Amino acid sequence: ALESDLRLALEQRAFEVHYQPRVSVASHRIVGAEALVRWRHPTRGLLAPGLFIPVAERFGLITALGSWVIDEACRQARIWRDATPHGMPPIVFVNISPRQLLSSEFLPSLEAAIERHGIDSNQLCLELGNMSTIPETSQAWMLLRECKALGVRLALDNFGSNDSSYGLIRKLQLDYIKLGRQLTSARGSTAHDDAITNSVVSLARSLGFTTIAQGIEDPASLERARTFGCDLAQGFYFGVAEPADAIDLQIATGRSTSRAVFR
Ligand code: C2E
Ligand code: MG
Repeated sequence: ALESDLRLALEQRAFEVHYQPRVSVASHRIVGAEALVRWRHPTRGLLAPGLFIPVAERFGLITALGSWVIDEACRQARIWRDATPHGMPPIVFVNISPRQLLSSEFLPSLEAAIERHGIDSNQLCLELGNMSTIPETSQAWMLLRECKALGVRLALDNFGSNDSSYGLIRKLQLDYIKLGRQLTSARGSTAHDDAITNSVVSLARSLGFTTIAQGIEDPASLERARTFGCDLAQGFYFGVAEPADAIDLQIATGRSTSRAVFR
């Protein structure tokens, strides 16, 4: 039933993209936002992506849903660019399922979205999750290099939580590495955890990647991210994912309105 609901929802565009701010650890200024899709279900309310992305992947609907999300993210990127005429426009990070990269429509529809909304391709970043399902010889790697050549940025999501990470670092010229919550949470972290996080951040820095500490929920985790030299932070401490207009003003002023800033 979820499958047929999902097909109908795609026709009716019953999805929304919410945005969660990404801030500079040093200045707490907003440098971008992660686009996170939600489904406005007629009877079940607003559904989190964990409940339907796997279904969309299984039934071959992720390509259509994913390209809608990219288009929507580019539309929003344009609005935010226009709102920051003098500053760096915020980068919009879009999650990409490995399966989307197997479609020949991916690149043309990405290019079309960038063009349609008139943004610079480097305002868009593709955030790659578990790529271990993609074989070494897949066209997907070439496709990602083509995206990169277009100027689109690439990020590795949730580093430290899947096995494909090192392979991906070797194969692609990435811009960002996002450290999963297992690596960034200060809660219950031991000296052993600290050593791992420290060496992951050093690795990322020596490869020239910008590091993002995700899942920052409290001041202690932020302080830990700062100590280890993470560049950017994201998490409930700075704000949850919300409809774009909820963070428009923060983007325009470059200021995160979380208590972290006004502390
Ligand atoms: P992700 O890319 O790892 O996204 C981060 C998830 O962590 C988001 O959940 C976000 O709301 C949540 N989060 C953010 N800060 C914190 C924090 O401080 N603490 C905790 N506990 N959680 C935090 P969400 O929105 O439910 O998304 C879940 C996953 O669904 C995403 O994980 C991503 O893999 C996938 N997803 C979301 N949107 C899309 C999309 O448009 N396309 C694809 N293919 N996947 C998507
Ligand atoms: Mg992500």
